[in-house]
Amino acid sequence: MNPFLPKSKSDLLLWQVLVFIISVLGGLCSGSSLEINGGDGVAAPREFDYFKLALQWPGTVCPRSRHCCSSNACCRGSNAPTEFTIHGLWPDYNDGTWPACCTRSSFDRKEISTLLDPLEKYWPSLSCGSPSKCYGGKGSFWGHEWEKHGTCSSPVVRDEYNYFLTTLNVYFKYNVTRVLNEAGYVPSNSEKYPLGGIVSAIENAFHATPSLACSNGAVKELYLCFNKDFKPRDCAVRSSLQSEIFSQSSCPTYVSLPAHVSLGLEDDRTAVAWLPDNEIL
Ligand code: 5GP
Repeated sequence: MNPFLPKSKSDLLLWQVLVFIISVLGGLCSGSSLEINGGDGVAAPREFDYFKLALQWPGTVCPRSRHCCSSNACCRGSNAPTEFTIHGLWPDYNDGTWPACCTRSSFDRKEISTLLDPLEKYWPSLSCGSPSKCYGGKGSFWGHEWEKHGTCSSPVVRDEYNYFLTTLNVYFKYNVTRVLNEAGYVPSNSEKYPLGGIVSAIENAFHATPSLACSNGAVKELYLCFNKDFKPRDCAVRSSLQSEIFSQSSCPTYVSLPAHVSLGLEDDRTAVAWLPDNEIL
């Protein structure tokens, strides 16, 4: 008899908990840049399974932004974003983990010089913070997304320009803000909407189930998932034991979609501290 096989129900439970802990630790590791292919003899992470388009809701993210600077779109006054903006296009594994920082290809702003206008508008940073780069130091929001996630998108997306162009194209094709508006889910600082209604509106439009993340009952992020050919697919991927544990999303049954109250208006820079451009938080 195999000594490693569970013999009773309680053994089985213990076994499942151990498997779960190991897979969660695996996820943390891959998500925290340990699966690096730096050309230093470290094995390349295996090819990803699907893409997750992560969108952020400025009405929820911006009020948590405590500083203003020229790169923070929350501080654009009446030009601040009022639709879901792009967080990133993330290659993920079906087991709920993901590869990160897959090559040493560092971000080069010149490569995307022809995309800057749409990127500023639809993929802006919503904070002044500089996210950490894969190999130390701090970088721009776009640099972080390319180095952490974009470099793992091969063989579907092979270079920086195509990573940003592809992401913009997918974002335009699957316009979540428009779908929600048409279903009556409009930005509001007083309404609460059924989470199930929001999910159904997107399912009806795109024929796939999204996932959402909330902060204090307000939608903070919304994720659309795609096969490698960019056909929509469901986002839920957890194994059975994990799904029991993760079935409680960070969103309550009724959620809000706050309207953005502009920070650091051009004529009222006292509302929130403005930082010089070169100041790193
Ligand atoms: P947060 O802690 O804000 O949920 O996630 C922090 C960072 O972890 C994100 O900006 C993103 O880089 C990464 N991350 C979080 N969830 C996922 C996921 O499901 N897939 C991938 N690929 N990255 C994720």
